[in-house]
Amino acid sequence: MADETIFDKILRREIPAQVVYEDDDVLAFRDVNPQAPVHVLVIPKKKVGRFAELKSAPLRDAGAFFAGVARVAHELRLEQNGYRVVLNNGRDGQQTVEYLHARVRAKTLFATH
Ligand code: 5GP
Repeated sequence: MADETIFDKILRREIPAQVVYEDDDVLAFRDVNPQAPVHVLVIPKKKVGRFAELKSAPLRDAGAFFAGVARVAHELRLEQNGYRVVLNNGRDGQQTVEYLHARVRAKTLFATH
């Protein structure tokens, strides 16, 4: 099990974040340092430290996460113009928070929140 991270605390609402979407599988919140008009981080509620761990995780966990990422983009109304999903893995992948997170980025802000 990976060490406790800031995202564990956000998930438990111990530190604040601008949550934009939540369901049984994922929590999505705005990146504190946005690099695009839409820059949201999506984490699985069932903790995974990094993308590489999905190679031995139950397929349903990986599926639940990726379907959740797609739901976030849908809820933010990004589907028509498109969006980018980025996953950093490990040191050379520039992963700084050891809790799996997908960045959903888009140039155009359609979200109402
Ligand atoms: P990584 O570098 O691990 O791929 O991405 C971590 C991301 O989390 C960065 O884009 C960083 O701006 C964001 N981040 C780090 N700490 C916090 C925080 O406390 N709150 C929020 N909302 N985002 C954070």
